[in-house]
Amino acid sequence: MRPGNGPSRWVALECLRCGRESPPDTLGRCGNCQGILSARYSMKGYRWGTMGTRSLWEFQEVLPPVPDAFRTSLGEGSTPYVPLAHLGREVGLPHLLAKLEGTNPTGSFKDRAAALGVSLARTRGARGVFTASSGNAASAIAAYCARAGLPCVVMAREDITASKRMQIGMYGARIVPVRHLFDTEDTLTQALRAAGRAAPDFANLFVWAPWNPLLVDAMKTIAYEMALQGPLPDAVLVPVAGGDLLYGIHKGFSELREAGLIPATPRMIAVQGEGASPLVTSFLAGHEEVLRGTRADTVAGALRVTFGGEHALQALRESAGTAIAVPDAAILAAQRRIAAREGIFCEVSSATTVAALESLRTSGQLGPGDTVAVILTGLGFKDHPADMVGSAPEASREISEIDAGLFHGTHGEPRSRPAP
Ligand SMILES: [Zn+2]
Repeated sequence: MRPGNGPSRWVALECLRCGRESPPDTLGRCGNCQGILSARYSMKGYRWGTMGTRSLWEFQEVLPPVPDAFRTSLGEGSTPYVPLAHLGREVGLPHLLAKLEGTNPTGSFKDRAAALGVSLARTRGARGVFTASSGNAASAIAAYCARAGLPCVVMAREDITASKRMQIGMYGARIVPVRHLFDTEDTLTQALRAAGRAAPDFANLFVWAPWNPLLVDAMKTIAYEMALQGPLPDAVLVPVAGGDLLYGIHKGFSELREAGLIPATPRMIAVQGEGASPLVTSFLAGHEEVLRGTRADTVAGALRVTFGGEHALQALRESAGTAIAVPDAAILAAQRRIAAREGIFCEVSSATTVAALESLRTSGQLGPGDTVAVILTGLGFKDHPADMVGSAPEASREISEIDAGLFHGTHGEPRSRPAP
C-alpha cells in the first residue's frame, strides 16, 4: 500500500456552525441549526498520496468511504499546475501559477465531484441520478453516469445553449428544460424536491454543499495536488458561484496543515462577475450569511448566481482572504490575454481570476513576493457568449503568394527568453 492509499480516515459528518453530527448519508443542512454540513477526517499521521493512480481515488484516505466495486473513474484529477511566467511578469506577480482543471475528462473541475457523487450513489443503491445544471456539472454527471451504467436526468434552464445541450446529450442523459429553475434558491429547491418525490430511487446529485455536503471533499483534492506538486501558494484565486470550490480548496489545505504537511494555509480570494456577486458583496459588508441578490447578470455563465453558501464566507475569514468582483469587459479581455500569452484557453468564468490580478496587485492585496495561484476551472470551449468571435481570417491567397511578407509584422515581438 502506498502512502495516502489506506482506508478512509472518515470520522463524522458535522455542522460547520453548531458542530452537531448528522448521519453520513444526510442530504441537506443541519437539522439543529440549518448550518452547512462538512465531513471531518482524522488527519493524525496522514502521509499524502503519490499521484501514481492518476485519479481522485489517489486520495481515498481523505474521501468518504466507497467500496472498490462501486468506484467510478475516468482518470479525473491529477491536473497540471503550471507557472504563468509571461502573464506574471506583465501584472507584476513573478510567482504566478495556474491549476488547469480544464484537462479533466469532460473539461471541467466538476468531474471530481461527479466521480465521487456517482460512486456514492452506487454505494447507496440508487437506480439512477438526477441533477439541476445547465453547464459543467450536468456534463460531468452525465458522463460519469454513462460510465457507471446509471440513467441520468438533467433539469436545465430553459435557455440552455446548443453547445451545452450537445455535450450533455452526447453522454445519453435526458435533458428536461425547467422554467425559472435557477431564478432563486427557492425555485431551485422546489424543482429538486419535486424531482426527489417523482423518482425516490434516484440519487439527487445537485453539486452544492447545502444539498450534498460530501461532494466538497472531491473538490478539496485540488489543494492536495497543489501542495504535492508545489510550490505551495500564498494566495489562491477561485471563481465562485455556490462557493463549494473555494470552501473545498480551503478545507484541503486546512487538513494538510492539521496533518503537519504544510506550514500554513493560503489566503483564499473569491472572484465573481460584477453583475452577480452575492458572496463578494456579503463578505465586504461583513455579513455572516450570503445575502440573496435580485439579479445575476455577468458574461461568466457558470457564475450567474443570486445566492451562495456561507461555508465560502467562513473560508475567506479563516484564511484572512478577500473577495473581488470584476466587470464583463475585463473578464473577456483576460480570457484572450491568458490564451495569447500562455497558450491556455480557459472558459469565461475561469478568466474572472485572471481579470482580478491587476486590481489586487495595485491595491497591495497581492505583492511581487507572493506565490499566487489561479484556479482555471474549465476549458474555453465549454461556455462562451454567442457574440464572441475570433479574429477574422485573411483573404485567401494563391500558393505562389506565400512569401516572406506573410511572416513579418503580424505576430508581435518574439519573446526575449524561452517559456519555462
Ligand atoms: Zn448545526
